Amino acid sequence: VGGISKEPPLHIVHIAVEMAPIAKVGGLGDVVTSLSRAVQELNHNVDIVFPKYDCIKHNFVKDLQFNRSYHWGGTEIKVWHGKVEGLSVYFLDPQNGLFQRGCVYGCADDAGRFGFFCHAALEFLLQGGFHPDILHCHDWSSAPVSWLFKDHYTQYGLIKTRIVFTIHNLEFGANAIGKAMTFADKATTVSPTYAKEVAGNSVISAHLYKFHGIINGIDPDIWDPYNDNFIPVPYTSENVVEGKRAAKEELQNRLGLKSADFPVVGIITRLTHQKGIHLIKHAIWRTLERNGQVVLLGSAPDPRIQNDFVNLANQLHSSHGDRARLVLTYDEPLSHLIYAGADFILVPSIFEPCGLTQLIAMRYGAVPVVRKTGGLFDTVFDVDHDKERAQAQVLEPNGFSFDGADAPGVDYALNRAISAWYDGREWFNSLCKTVMEQDWSWNRPALEYLELYHSARK
Ligand code: ADP
Repeated sequence: VGGISKEPPLHIVHIAVEMAPIAKVGGLGDVVTSLSRAVQELNHNVDIVFPKYDCIKHNFVKDLQFNRSYHWGGTEIKVWHGKVEGLSVYFLDPQNGLFQRGCVYGCADDAGRFGFFCHAALEFLLQGGFHPDILHCHDWSSAPVSWLFKDHYTQYGLIKTRIVFTIHNLEFGANAIGKAMTFADKATTVSPTYAKEVAGNSVISAHLYKFHGIINGIDPDIWDPYNDNFIPVPYTSENVVEGKRAAKEELQNRLGLKSADFPVVGIITRLTHQKGIHLIKHAIWRTLERNGQVVLLGSAPDPRIQNDFVNLANQLHSSHGDRARLVLTYDEPLSHLIYAGADFILVPSIFEPCGLTQLIAMRYGAVPVVRKTGGLFDTVFDVDHDKERAQAQVLEPNGFSFDGADAPGVDYALNRAISAWYDGREWFNSLCKTVMEQDWSWNRPALEYLELYHSARK
C-alpha cells in the first residue's frame, strides 16, 4: 500500500450496463458505483461509459450536458456527460433506438444491443482522445470490450491501456465470459471463495494465473442508517436498539403487520433458483412456527416463479396476515426500511458470488442468516462455529450459517438465530452492535483493486 500511494494517479474507465441508482438491476449496479467512488476517493480518476437508456432515473443525474456526437455502426451516437453520485458518466445515446426499450435487460437482442454498446464505447474513447490506464468491464454484458479492444484498438491511440474484467456472476453468458477471460490482462471475481468454487470451470481454469477473488464492499454513505431518508430514527451502533425498534414499528405499520415485539426475519432478493427459492419458502413457514414475523421483498424475472409467489402470498396473507408479508416487486425505499427494521436477514443462496444483502444487513444492525457459499462464506462467521476463522480476519463472529441445501440445513441456522433472540435479548442486542461496527466498506477491497490495476500495467 505504501508503494502504491507514491505512484501517479491512474485513469480508470468502466464500461458497464448497470449503475446504481440510475439503472440498477442487482449487485453489479451497486459495485460499479461504489467501487468507482472508493477508487476516486483514493485520488484516482474514474469515468464511466454507460448506455443512455430511456428508463434511467434522471433525477439522480446532475449537470447533464450534451458532449459531442459521432457516427459509428451506421448511426449517429450522441454523447451526454453528467454526474451520478459524484462520478463522471458519459452516456451513449445511439439514434437507432437500441436503448429506447423501457428496460435494461429483457429484449431478445440483448447480446446485440450490448455488443453494439461496447464497440461504440471503445470508438468513443478513441475518437475522444482518451488514454485510460485501465478499461474495466463487467460480466457478459460488457465482456466484448475485452476482445474488441484487443482485436481493433491496441494499434491505435489506446496502446498503454490494460483490460480488467470482473465476473459478478458466472451463471450468465459463459461463452462471452470465457472469451473475455482469454483477452483480459487481469480478471477478478467478487469473493475469494467464489473464485475457488469456479476455478475448475472450463472458461476459468486456463486463466488462473491472472484470476483473483476480491470481496465486494458497500458504500457506507449510500447505506447509512444515520443518514437515511427512508427510516424513521437515525441510528448508529450507539443507539441501535432504539433505532431498530422505531424502524420495526414503522415497517409493521406500513405493511399492516401486527405491531408487537416479534423476531422479524427479512428477505430481500431476486427470486431465482440461485437464491434458494425452496429454502426461502421453508424458512417462511419455519419462522411462522416459531412465532416470528416474515417480510419478503422480491421479484422474479421468470413469470412462473412470480406467479408461484403471488399464490404463496395470497395463502400467507389469509392464514397469517398479521405476521407475514410478501411484497413482490422491486422497491428500493422499502428495502432500506426492511434492513433497518428486521432482526435477521436471511440469504440461503445455492451459490452466491459475493452477495451484498448480508453486508447491507450488517450495516443496519440486522444479523445475517446465510448458507455457507461464495461471498456469504467469506463475510459471515457463525457465532457457534466460526470463532477461529473470524479471529483470523480480526473479526468477531457475526451471524448464523448452514451447509446443506435442504430444509434441515436452513432450520439449523434459523432455529439458533430465533432462539438467540428469544433467550438472550441482551446478548442479541450486543450482536447487533457488533455487526454494525464491522467494516464491510470498500476501504480494504479498493486497495486490492488498485494493486491489481497496477500489476496489470507491469
Ligand atoms: P444479485 O446481484 O445476485 O441480485 P446481490 O446481493 O449482489 O444480489 O445484490 C442485490 C442488491 O439488490 C442489493 O442491493 C439488494 O438490496 C437489492 N435488491 C434485490 N431485490 C430487491 C427488491 N425486490 N427491491 C429492492 N432492492 C432489491
